[in-house]
Amino acid sequence: MQQAELVITDIGQLVTCAANGRGPKRGAEMREVNLIENASVAISDGIFTAVGPHQEILDEFVGERTFSAEGRAACPGFVDPHTHIVYAGDRLDEFVLKLQGAEYLDILSAGGGILSTVKKSREASVDLLVDESLARLNKMFKAGTTTIEIKTGYGLDTKAELKMLQVIERLDVIHEADIVPTFLAAHTIAPEFRNDPEAYVSLICEEMLPAAWNWYLGSHFYQKSTPFFCDVFTERNAFDVEQMGRIFATAGSLGFRLKSHVDQFSNLGGSEASIRSHAASIDHLDAISEREVGILAESDTIGVVIPTENFSAGKVEFAPARRLIDKGCAVALSTDFNPGSAPCPSMPMAMAIASRYQRLLPSEALNAATINAAHSVGLGDRFGSIEVGKAADMLILDCVDHRQIVYEFGGNLVLHVIKRGKFTSNG
Ligand SMILES: [Zn+2]
Repeated sequence: MQQAELVITDIGQLVTCAANGRGPKRGAEMREVNLIENASVAISDGIFTAVGPHQEILDEFVGERTFSAEGRAACPGFVDPHTHIVYAGDRLDEFVLKLQGAEYLDILSAGGGILSTVKKSREASVDLLVDESLARLNKMFKAGTTTIEIKTGYGLDTKAELKMLQVIERLDVIHEADIVPTFLAAHTIAPEFRNDPEAYVSLICEEMLPAAWNWYLGSHFYQKSTPFFCDVFTERNAFDVEQMGRIFATAGSLGFRLKSHVDQFSNLGGSEASIRSHAASIDHLDAISEREVGILAESDTIGVVIPTENFSAGKVEFAPARRLIDKGCAVALSTDFNPGSAPCPSMPMAMAIASRYQRLLPSEALNAATINAAHSVGLGDRFGSIEVGKAADMLILDCVDHRQIVYEFGGNLVLHVIKRGKFTSNG
């Protein structure tokens, strides 16, 4: 018999989302969730050491601690690959204005929207930002998100962007969740550069990116080999494809990995340009062209769709996630948790919307929220599936069939969050 720190037994339905050493799941593979009936898992040092049928594990392992799932379903902890949870204040007034008919770009042109969050976030101390962000992180964790990408982008000057990075690092140190940092100085044109966007792009390339990379090399993230991403918001009133190319060229040469906001409102050619720059993911994709869908399918880039944003805006049109999968792309899901367009901490909510409006099957939504999301933040070899050698991140669900997590919405079916082998109970 082998010793394990923890053995979890009697899992009625274990959905592993295992990719068996391959990359992200694409096309028809996204229907396969690798389900084991009546399963158990053994965990030591925060890592899965065995995963398999109940009796096989019990014959081989004895746990210092044993926990029975009592026939419930279990799945990997969710990975949220696109969020903006570090900010001060809220956008409640803007929400009400939008309900009364104001458009996002109108609010942006009027100096409202994102710039009101920039103003409050610049004024806030590191401690205040940590407190407010931690409350959001706790909500996400309770809803089953165990790995989370967090972007800067509400500082828009070197000092304030570095402050946001410090907050993101602090969150990773104090919270159980694993965090992936993304530098998004190119979220929108800084207010000081409204009349000279090119000068802001130069500031990003010549001062901000080198300063951010220098910060990363001394950070906790570098020590634990967590990748550092650079992201650009390509859109009218933000950055064009040429500017994105300049930022990507500088970031890539420093060592950043790349991802981009593209095709949210209009197609400027950002998807193709990002794929050609070997971006790990392209996110939003509402306006992606048929030709670009083909290019994405042939690439290693992952398409991240964000149905919470459309839902929050009351839209009836969504990114063509069904077509992306049918054409053979690897698709991931995110909440885009942010104060303006998607104040949503719940991956199950994103999955529920994706199934109804984008016609993803429960199995596809689950792979999109776990293994593919992990690959889209460069961590597919460590998180996103229940496999021997991976971080022991697992959710015990208050149901017996995993499809319930997509079918039911508005509550929380996550009964226990297990992060690196440690238990947190929502009960
Ligand atoms: Zn975003």
